[in-house]
Amino acid sequence: MQQPGLFDAPPRLFTCTPSKLGSYEDCPRRYRFTYVDRPSPPKGPPWAHNSLGASVHTALKNWYGLPAQRRTPAALPGLLKATWVSEGYRDGEQERDAFRRSLGWLETYLAEADPADEPVGVERTVAARTSVLALSGRVDRIDRRGDELVIVDYKTGRSESTSDDARGSRALALYAYSAQRTFRRACTRVELHHLPTGTVAAHEHTEESLARHLRRAEDTAHDVMSAERARTEGRSADEAFPPAPGPLCGWCDYRKACPEGSAAAPAKEPWSALSAS
Ligand code: SF4
Repeated sequence: MQQPGLFDAPPRLFTCTPSKLGSYEDCPRRYRFTYVDRPSPPKGPPWAHNSLGASVHTALKNWYGLPAQRRTPAALPGLLKATWVSEGYRDGEQERDAFRRSLGWLETYLAEADPADEPVGVERTVAARTSVLALSGRVDRIDRRGDELVIVDYKTGRSESTSDDARGSRALALYAYSAQRTFRRACTRVELHHLPTGTVAAHEHTEESLARHLRRAEDTAHDVMSAERARTEGRSADEAFPPAPGPLCGWCDYRKACPEGSAAAPAKEPWSALSAS
Protein backbone atom coordinates (compact mmCIF):
# COMPACT_ATOMS: atom_id res chain seq x y z
CA MET A 1 0.00 0.00 0.00
CA GLN A 2 1.25 3.48 -0.82
CA GLN A 3 2.37 5.44 2.23
CA PRO A 4 0.05 8.44 2.59
CA GLY A 5 1.75 11.67 1.67
CA LEU A 6 4.92 9.99 0.40
CA PHE A 7 4.66 11.65 -3.00
CA ASP A 8 3.02 14.87 -1.82
CA ALA A 9 4.88 18.01 -2.84
CA PRO A 10 6.94 19.30 0.11
CA PRO A 11 5.40 22.41 1.68
CA ARG A 12 6.55 25.58 -0.06
CA LEU A 13 8.98 27.61 2.01
CA PHE A 14 8.57 31.35 2.15
CA THR A 15 11.79 32.85 0.80
CA CYS A 16 12.56 36.09 2.57
CA THR A 17 14.93 38.53 4.17
CA PRO A 18 14.18 40.31 7.46
CA SER A 19 13.45 43.50 5.53
CA LYS A 20 10.88 41.73 3.32
CA LEU A 21 9.04 40.51 6.43
CA GLY A 22 9.32 43.94 8.06
CA SER A 23 7.91 45.60 4.96
CA TYR A 24 4.71 43.52 5.20
CA GLU A 25 4.42 44.12 8.95
CA ASP A 26 4.72 47.89 8.40
CA CYS A 27 2.24 48.07 5.51
CA PRO A 28 0.86 45.24 3.33
CA ARG A 29 0.26 47.65 0.43
CA ARG A 30 3.88 48.79 0.48
CA TYR A 31 4.90 45.11 0.49
CA ARG A 32 2.74 44.57 -2.59
CA PHE A 33 4.24 47.57 -4.39
CA THR A 34 7.76 46.39 -3.56
CA TYR A 35 7.57 42.61 -3.97
CA VAL A 36 4.41 41.65 -5.88
CA ASP A 37 3.37 44.24 -8.48
CA ARG A 38 5.36 44.20 -11.68
CA PRO A 39 6.14 46.77 -12.73
CA SER A 40 6.25 48.43 -9.30
CA PRO A 41 4.79 51.94 -9.16
CA PRO A 42 7.44 54.63 -9.70
CA LYS A 43 9.31 55.53 -6.52
CA GLY A 44 9.82 59.05 -5.21
CA PRO A 45 13.24 60.71 -5.39
CA PRO A 46 16.23 59.19 -3.54
CA TRP A 47 16.68 60.05 0.15
CA ALA A 48 19.82 61.81 1.34
CA HIS A 49 19.90 59.78 4.57
CA ASN A 50 19.94 56.56 2.52
CA SER A 51 22.80 57.93 0.42
CA LEU A 52 24.74 58.82 3.55
CA GLY A 53 24.04 55.44 5.17
CA ALA A 54 25.10 53.52 2.06
CA SER A 55 28.29 55.61 1.71
CA VAL A 56 29.36 55.00 5.31
CA HIS A 57 28.49 51.29 5.22
CA THR A 58 30.51 50.74 2.03
CA ALA A 59 33.47 52.73 3.36
CA LEU A 60 33.49 50.51 6.47
CA LYS A 61 33.27 47.40 4.34
CA ASN A 62 36.19 48.56 2.21
CA TRP A 63 38.24 49.50 5.30
CA TYR A 64 38.05 45.88 6.43
CA GLY A 65 38.93 44.85 2.87
CA LEU A 66 42.32 46.59 3.17
CA PRO A 67 45.37 44.70 4.45
CA ALA A 68 45.70 45.36 8.22
CA GLN A 69 48.77 47.61 7.81
CA ARG A 70 46.80 49.96 5.52
CA ARG A 71 43.87 50.34 7.93
CA THR A 72 44.92 53.77 9.10
CA PRO A 73 43.04 57.06 9.63
CA ALA A 74 44.81 58.44 6.54
CA ALA A 75 42.98 55.87 4.39
CA LEU A 76 39.52 57.05 5.43
CA PRO A 77 38.99 60.19 3.30
CA GLY A 78 39.87 58.26 0.13
CA LEU A 79 37.65 55.33 1.09
CA LEU A 80 34.68 57.57 1.82
CA LYS A 81 35.18 59.65 -1.32
CA ALA A 82 35.33 56.52 -3.47
CA THR A 83 32.01 55.22 -2.13
CA TRP A 84 30.19 58.54 -1.68
CA VAL A 85 26.61 58.62 -3.01
CA SER A 86 25.54 62.16 -3.91
CA GLU A 87 21.80 61.67 -4.38
CA GLY A 88 19.08 63.40 -2.38
CA TYR A 89 20.98 66.32 -0.84
CA ARG A 90 19.46 69.81 -0.96
CA ASP A 91 22.62 71.38 -2.38
CA GLY A 92 26.38 71.08 -2.51
CA GLU A 93 26.84 72.78 0.85
CA GLN A 94 24.60 70.27 2.64
CA GLU A 95 26.34 67.40 0.89
CA ARG A 96 29.81 68.66 1.83
CA ASP A 97 28.67 69.07 5.43
CA ALA A 98 27.32 65.48 5.42
CA PHE A 99 30.64 64.23 4.01
CA ARG A 100 32.62 66.03 6.73
CA ARG A 101 30.37 64.67 9.47
CA SER A 102 30.49 61.12 8.08
CA LEU A 103 34.27 61.24 7.90
CA GLY A 104 34.40 62.41 11.51
CA TRP A 105 32.17 59.50 12.59
CA LEU A 106 34.40 57.00 10.80
CA GLU A 107 37.59 58.49 12.28
CA THR A 108 36.19 58.36 15.82
CA TYR A 109 34.67 54.90 15.41
CA LEU A 110 37.72 53.27 13.88
CA ALA A 111 40.13 54.95 16.33
CA GLU A 112 38.71 52.46 18.86
CA ALA A 113 39.16 49.46 16.54
CA ASP A 114 42.25 47.26 16.43
CA PRO A 115 43.34 47.27 12.76
CA ALA A 116 44.55 43.69 13.19
CA ASP A 117 41.06 42.42 14.07
CA GLU A 118 39.63 40.31 11.27
CA PRO A 119 35.85 40.00 11.49
CA VAL A 120 34.35 36.62 10.64
CA GLY A 121 32.30 38.39 8.00
CA VAL A 122 31.77 41.84 6.53
CA GLU A 123 28.52 42.38 4.63
CA ARG A 124 28.24 38.64 4.88
CA THR A 125 25.14 36.75 3.77
CA VAL A 126 23.81 34.27 6.32
CA ALA A 127 20.96 31.83 5.72
CA ALA A 128 18.77 29.34 7.53
CA ARG A 129 15.65 27.26 6.94
CA THR A 130 12.73 26.41 9.17
CA SER A 131 9.61 24.42 8.32
CA VAL A 132 8.12 27.70 6.99
CA LEU A 133 10.97 30.05 6.07
CA ALA A 134 13.94 30.08 3.74
CA LEU A 135 15.67 33.00 5.40
CA SER A 136 18.66 34.96 4.24
CA GLY A 137 20.13 38.33 5.07
CA ARG A 138 23.30 40.36 4.76
CA VAL A 139 24.93 41.30 8.06
CA ASP A 140 27.05 44.48 8.29
CA ARG A 141 29.69 42.68 10.35
CA ILE A 142 30.07 39.44 12.27
CA ASP A 143 32.72 39.47 15.00
CA ARG A 144 34.09 36.54 16.89
CA ARG A 145 34.54 37.02 20.63
CA GLY A 146 35.80 33.93 22.41
CA ASP A 147 33.84 30.98 21.12
CA GLU A 148 30.83 33.05 20.12
CA LEU A 149 29.81 35.17 17.16
CA VAL A 150 28.40 38.69 17.56
CA ILE A 151 26.09 40.43 15.09
CA VAL A 152 27.08 44.07 14.46
CA ASP A 153 24.70 46.45 12.69
CA TYR A 154 25.83 50.01 11.87
CA LYS A 155 23.40 52.88 12.37
CA THR A 156 23.78 56.37 10.91
CA GLY A 157 20.38 57.89 11.70
CA ARG A 158 19.70 60.79 14.02
CA SER A 159 18.49 58.87 17.05
CA GLU A 160 20.85 57.01 19.30
CA SER A 161 20.01 53.29 19.49
CA THR A 162 18.91 51.76 22.80
CA SER A 163 19.21 48.26 24.22
CA ASP A 164 15.43 47.99 23.71
CA ASP A 165 16.03 48.61 19.99
CA ALA A 166 18.62 45.81 19.96
CA ARG A 167 16.33 43.46 21.90
CA GLY A 168 13.27 44.21 19.76
CA SER A 169 14.96 44.10 16.37
CA ARG A 170 13.52 41.15 14.44
CA ALA A 171 16.26 41.55 11.82
CA LEU A 172 19.10 41.24 14.36
CA ALA A 173 17.51 38.17 15.97
CA LEU A 174 17.04 36.49 12.59
CA TYR A 175 20.64 37.30 11.66
CA ALA A 176 21.84 35.72 14.92
CA TYR A 177 19.74 32.61 14.29
CA SER A 178 20.96 32.36 10.69
CA ALA A 179 24.60 32.98 11.68
CA GLN A 180 24.36 30.08 14.14
CA ARG A 181 23.26 27.81 11.31
CA THR A 182 25.66 29.19 8.70
CA PHE A 183 28.78 29.00 10.89
CA ARG A 184 27.69 26.20 13.27
CA ARG A 185 28.76 28.34 16.21
CA ALA A 186 26.89 30.02 19.07
CA CYS A 187 25.59 33.51 18.29
CA THR A 188 23.33 35.23 20.78
CA ARG A 189 24.72 38.75 21.15
CA VAL A 190 23.48 41.50 18.83
CA GLU A 191 24.82 45.06 18.76
CA LEU A 192 23.72 48.34 17.18
CA HIS A 193 26.73 50.61 16.58
CA HIS A 194 25.46 54.18 16.26
CA LEU A 195 28.22 56.04 14.47
CA PRO A 196 27.06 59.65 15.05
CA THR A 197 27.32 59.19 18.84
CA GLY A 198 29.87 56.37 18.93
CA THR A 199 27.57 54.38 21.21
CA VAL A 200 26.82 50.65 21.20
CA ALA A 201 23.41 49.28 22.19
CA ALA A 202 23.53 45.55 22.83
CA HIS A 203 21.28 42.66 23.73
CA GLU A 204 22.10 39.10 24.70
CA HIS A 205 19.48 36.76 23.27
CA THR A 206 18.54 33.41 24.72
CA GLU A 207 17.46 30.41 22.67
CA GLU A 208 13.91 31.24 23.84
CA SER A 209 14.01 34.86 22.71
CA LEU A 210 15.43 33.86 19.32
CA ALA A 211 12.68 31.25 19.01
CA ARG A 212 10.08 33.91 19.84
CA HIS A 213 11.36 36.18 17.05
CA LEU A 214 11.41 33.22 14.70
CA ARG A 215 7.81 32.32 15.53
CA ARG A 216 6.68 35.88 14.86
CA ALA A 217 8.57 35.85 11.55
CA GLU A 218 6.79 32.60 10.63
CA ASP A 219 3.43 34.15 11.58
CA THR A 220 4.14 37.05 9.25
CA ALA A 221 5.13 34.64 6.47
CA HIS A 222 1.81 32.80 6.92
CA ASP A 223 -0.03 36.15 6.68
CA VAL A 224 1.81 37.03 3.46
CA MET A 225 1.08 33.63 1.92
CA SER A 226 -2.62 34.01 2.87
CA ALA A 227 -2.69 37.43 1.21
CA GLU A 228 -1.09 36.00 -1.93
CA ARG A 229 -3.66 33.16 -1.95
CA ALA A 230 -6.53 35.63 -1.49
CA ARG A 231 -5.24 37.52 -4.52
CA THR A 232 -5.08 34.43 -6.72
CA GLU A 233 -8.57 33.50 -5.55
CA GLY A 234 -9.88 36.77 -6.95
CA ARG A 235 -9.86 39.20 -4.01
CA SER A 236 -8.89 42.74 -5.01
CA ALA A 237 -5.33 43.89 -4.44
CA ASP A 238 -6.51 46.40 -1.82
CA GLU A 239 -8.44 43.75 0.10
CA ALA A 240 -5.59 41.25 0.04
CA PHE A 241 -2.87 43.82 0.77
CA PRO A 242 -4.61 46.73 2.56
CA PRO A 243 -2.84 50.04 3.19
CA ALA A 244 -1.70 50.87 6.73
CA PRO A 245 -1.60 54.66 6.67
CA GLY A 246 0.25 56.48 9.45
CA PRO A 247 2.98 59.02 10.18
CA LEU A 248 5.61 56.89 8.41
CA CYS A 249 3.81 57.41 5.08
CA GLY A 250 5.73 60.70 4.79
CA TRP A 251 8.85 58.59 4.26
CA CYS A 252 7.30 55.97 1.95
CA ASP A 253 8.78 55.66 -1.54
CA TYR A 254 5.31 54.88 -2.92
CA ARG A 255 3.40 57.72 -1.25
CA LYS A 256 2.47 59.27 -4.62
CA ALA A 257 0.80 56.03 -5.72
CA CYS A 258 -1.18 55.73 -2.50
CA PRO A 259 -4.10 58.10 -1.81
CA GLU A 260 -4.56 56.91 1.81
CA GLY A 261 -0.85 57.38 2.58
CA SER A 262 -0.74 60.81 0.90
CA ALA A 263 -3.64 61.93 3.10
CA ALA A 264 -2.10 60.45 6.26
CA ALA A 265 1.19 62.35 6.32
CA PRO A 266 2.75 65.30 4.51
CA ALA A 267 5.56 64.56 2.09
CA LYS A 268 9.10 64.91 3.43
CA GLU A 269 11.90 66.59 1.57
CA PRO A 270 14.54 64.07 0.42
CA TRP A 271 17.00 65.62 2.91
CA SER A 272 14.55 66.03 5.82
CA ALA A 273 16.13 63.30 7.93
CA LEU A 274 19.48 65.13 7.78
CA SER A 275 18.43 68.69 8.45
CA ALA A 276 18.18 68.48 12.24
CA SER A 277 21.35 66.43 12.69
S1 SF4 B 1 2.09 55.61 1.74
FE1 SF4 B 1 1.67 54.59 3.71
S2 SF4 B 1 -0.19 53.38 3.37
FE2 SF4 B 1 0.64 53.92 1.36
S3 SF4 B 1 1.94 52.22 0.75
FE3 SF4 B 1 3.25 53.70 1.76
S4 SF4 B 1 3.31 53.06 3.91
FE4 SF4 B 1 1.56 52.04 2.97
